Amino acid sequence: MVQCQACVLTCMDFRIQYPIARWLQEKGLQGNYDYIALPGASRNFLQGGKLFLIETSIKLHQIKEVYIIHHEDCGAYGLGELPVAEQLKLQYQDMQEAAQILKERHPHLEVHLAFLYLDGNMVELF
Ligand SMILES: [Zn+2]
Repeated sequence: MVQCQACVLTCMDFRIQYPIARWLQEKGLQGNYDYIALPGASRNFLQGGKLFLIETSIKLHQIKEVYIIHHEDCGAYGLGELPVAEQLKLQYQDMQEAAQILKERHPHLEVHLAFLYLDGNMVELF
């Protein structure tokens, strides 16, 4: 059986790909996660019935954790004019909702939420 540790749900934005890969590497997850990049991450997940994408990862690779990663100045949210703290707050609502859906359907999953600033700083949210 082919298994991996985690599934990462994040945005497609080119600016965040390298910092995210580096952050996951620092966590020791390099080469050990499925990767789903959709514009707006949770927003897209919630709007489009994309649960099956993560459930495919569960089914095929028995993942134990999901990382939902959002970022500053996300075009899918169009909040770039707002202070970054406000951007985070508004995106966090969707992230929590996505996490709740995942946990309800798959109680064994650990769901982590994180937010990437464009200076490369990542904060984990709870
Ligand atoms: Zn984005």
